[in-house]
Amino acid sequence: LPRLPVFEAISRHDPDSTVVIHSSSGRRFKYGELLGDVRKTRNRLYEAAGRDDIDGERIAFLVENSYDYVVTFLAILAAKSIAVPLSPAFPAPELQYILNHSEALMLLSSAKFAPKAHEVLKTELDVEPAYLQLSKFQGGAPHERVILEKTGPGSAGLMLYTSGTTNRPKGVLLPQSVITSQARSLLHAWEYSPSDHLLHVLPLHHIHGTINALFTPLFSGSTIEFLFPFNADAVWKRLAAPFLTPDQTLDRDPDASSQSAFPPREKITFFTVVPTVYSRLLTTHKALPLDMQSATRAAISPANLRLAISGSAALPTPIKRAWSDLSGGNVLLERFGMTEVGMALSCGLDVADRVDGSVGWPLPGVEARLVDVDTHTVIEKGHERDADGRERVGEIQLRGPSIFAEYWRNPEATAKEFVESKDSDTRGLWFKTGDVAVRRPVEGGAGRSTAASQKDWARGDMYFILGRRSADIIKSGGEKVSALEVEREMLALPQVAEVAVLAVPSGKWGQKVGAVVILDEEFVPDGRWTPLDMRRALKGRLAGYKIPQVLKVVKHIPRNAMGKINKKMLVKDVFA
Ligand code: ATP
Ligand code: MG
Repeated sequence: LPRLPVFEAISRHDPDSTVVIHSSSGRRFKYGELLGDVRKTRNRLYEAAGRDDIDGERIAFLVENSYDYVVTFLAILAAKSIAVPLSPAFPAPELQYILNHSEALMLLSSAKFAPKAHEVLKTELDVEPAYLQLSKFQGGAPHERVILEKTGPGSAGLMLYTSGTTNRPKGVLLPQSVITSQARSLLHAWEYSPSDHLLHVLPLHHIHGTINALFTPLFSGSTIEFLFPFNADAVWKRLAAPFLTPDQTLDRDPDASSQSAFPPREKITFFTVVPTVYSRLLTTHKALPLDMQSATRAAISPANLRLAISGSAALPTPIKRAWSDLSGGNVLLERFGMTEVGMALSCGLDVADRVDGSVGWPLPGVEARLVDVDTHTVIEKGHERDADGRERVGEIQLRGPSIFAEYWRNPEATAKEFVESKDSDTRGLWFKTGDVAVRRPVEGGAGRSTAASQKDWARGDMYFILGRRSADIIKSGGEKVSALEVEREMLALPQVAEVAVLAVPSGKWGQKVGAVVILDEEFVPDGRWTPLDMRRALKGRLAGYKIPQVLKVVKHIPRNAMGKINKKMLVKDVFA
């Protein structure tokens, strides 16, 4: 295998330690088996391609979250090709789009998704990918010493498509050097270790599930337990397992004999998901039997669940508070990232460094700056307020070795999103994230950690995300309103279960602040909540100009797979 840092790391881990567990069956695979399976699969890719120079070719794959997924992903890197993970949840036209757009040389699938793969291959494609069905890896193969060759990494990499929240998903090319930098940065900041046991409940075709919850743990020798698709009851049951006696577990599981290995009983130490998952877990917790409630509380207490992380969308403070109350002080760590940059900003490991509403500081290796959205000048340290004392709002721009290389086959978009730095240094271009933020001095004891892993980056003013420049900054009568800020306050109202705040076009104001709300049925049983009720409830919580002028009560707010809302579409649907 080529001497990629990820293979070097894997070859150094204890071969007898567990790399992957399938939560539902309890099947386990060891680090010592992994590279042998990767090499065999890499060779099968060469056979299917009819050649062994497939450097930089895109190989798309449709495999369930499992050991097979891990082997397939790594085998594509081992062939110095570009891994293009597909979501089994995508309908055929979406898969077709990605196969065409990535100009895939090959399509791989597991047995389970062979029908889906064939369905796509039958459609008219612009490309003719070779198809290969992967056999199930049996695991348990004798440990094999795999030689790492002293070759360069070639063009190995990962191509992920953005979530498509604002537009058609863009193909983001992440060379292996970039994903390695991302992993090293997280490894340092979040201190992944061989004693970490992650519960993985995320899709694997997004950066969050792939880099934070799979690729980085592989570097550190952690155990990854797949439980997918996410199911709140199954997650609670799994978290509780180490804290229940065997008969307690069996009692409430009539099918226990058929799934004797479920659930595995190691303690879960690391959990990273999106805010909507925490929200689901909090809601379902109330309905658990009492002994399960106490077992799960123990499971998520800070002493047991070392790190619970939230990201991919803004974390509502009420969710953060409720999780902390339920767990006895496990304060969710929020971070900010995107497909193009991996993780960019993060709160710190010290509880004091997890300030409400903040996404923390630039992670190790990441350089960040704010560029004033009005004056287009860099907001220098110490100049976070303008002459009138108002906070200056800036776009987050980033650079460093963990930033992506290019949008695939889209040089115009690539050129548009990078800017040259005026300070004439040569460390590369700045990437315009499209997200805006403010920087504020730290509160309380934040930024004072003495731990070596935190000291060099969790320092100085903290970043607070206001939202997307294109959709979350509402310009109403000359004032700028952050949709995220209004959403945060509205979610703190007992009447509001879910909310999207957005810009509604207005002749008089340019834009009006609009709120689309799902009401809490317990609190508003008759479903009646008027704009006046809303304004009364928000008075004193928000400045007058930030209080929504229009309100629409709905039963459902559409979200994509990562729990995000396309606000351009929503405003059209609701306020048309
Ligand atoms: P597309 O680019 O296709 O429209 P997308 O931007 O949603 O979709 P991703 O790359 O998956 O695709 O998501 C990155 C975006 O998610 C960021 O630009 C930001 O708007 C949002 N985001 C991520 N983490 C946070 C956070 N902690 N708080 C607020 N927003 C966040
Ligand atoms: Mg985006």
